[in-house]
Amino acid sequence: MTKRDYYEILGVTRNADDAELKKAYRQMALKFHPDKNPNNKEAEDKFKEAAEAYEVLSDAEKRKRYDQFGHDGVKNGGGFGGGGGMNMDDIFSHFGDIFGGAFGGGGFGGGQQRGGRRVNRGTNLRVKVRLTLEEINTGVEKKIKVNKYIPCNSCKGSGAENSSSFSTCSTCRGTGQVTRVTNTFLGQMQTSSVCPTCSGEGQTIQHKCVHCAGNGVVKGEDVISIDIPAGVSDGIQLSVNGKGNAAARSGVPGDLIIQIEEAPHENLHREGNNLLYDLYVSFPDAALGCSVDIPTLEGKARIKIDPGTQGGRMLRLKGKGLPSINSYGKGDLLVTINVWTPKNLNRNEKEILEKLQSAENFKPQPSARDKGFFDRMREYFQ
Ligand SMILES: [Zn+2]
Ligand SMILES: [Zn+2]
Repeated sequence: MTKRDYYEILGVTRNADDAELKKAYRQMALKFHPDKNPNNKEAEDKFKEAAEAYEVLSDAEKRKRYDQFGHDGVKNGGGFGGGGGMNMDDIFSHFGDIFGGAFGGGGFGGGQQRGGRRVNRGTNLRVKVRLTLEEINTGVEKKIKVNKYIPCNSCKGSGAENSSSFSTCSTCRGTGQVTRVTNTFLGQMQTSSVCPTCSGEGQTIQHKCVHCAGNGVVKGEDVISIDIPAGVSDGIQLSVNGKGNAAARSGVPGDLIIQIEEAPHENLHREGNNLLYDLYVSFPDAALGCSVDIPTLEGKARIKIDPGTQGGRMLRLKGKGLPSINSYGKGDLLVTINVWTPKNLNRNEKEILEKLQSAENFKPQPSARDKGFFDRMREYFQ
């Protein structure tokens, strides 16, 4: 879930040049290539991971942003949609040249296996995950149950009753493509399109699996455990490669896209990585000083209110805010002190306050405030 360092993925140093990057990526791609590792999810993830790392590091501009800001710097405009990883089609179409003739001639997988055949791809699955500020503070592992298409158990996702049920499509002779030559006044025109008989898969199934009607997938349930990093915020999307819907007949599964929702906290308000808390103290407490407990995300913190504290004063509890998602350091907890004015006074209370009302010492002296409005704003935004 948490992204690995791109240099580490490719096994190169931070000052690797283009040739070294290309070489490293080529090695990784060949090692984890799906044709060499059929039905190996781990290899596929590694293959995708390496492609993503190369996509960023081989682009001078993106590499600069990555060096400076880490994964955050290349999250948007990465060309493959918000850090959501890459799908196989992207990889084949973008980096085909990298592989040269390594796979059976004509570029990528030109020969025996892949050809022009279509690889089925499962659809992405979206789920919302609601987190408390406490969970966001520490990062959390969530197990979520999703209803999705899973590979059919009885045919192992192939859609066929048994392995001899497959036969090469006779319409396209296994290529997945049909070519039509038409005579026009400009001469002969050749057009190719997806084979209508096998929908581009190159083979047909004689005896379909009865459990999934030949689809290779069935509706099912999956419990997926995801590590959500500390510091996420409302609306952020995380994507888990290959945990979406399974694809028909042993294709590439879609991704699971997790949308973070932030549950409101009963006491604390989030502002970026800082937390805000409105504290109310009684007038005697503000005048005489006191100690009060402040709620934080890690239990209570006791703070001291100095004698003569004015309403509106802001206290900063350093490092009691939230961590930032892709770097070190934490925000602060900013406590605004409000002085509570009592209502519905009884006779006795009224009498006491009336005595104080005319006392010279109780008259507001704005020039003697410990901090003015602008000072507080400056402190808040510093
Ligand atoms: Zn089946
Ligand atoms: Zn066909």
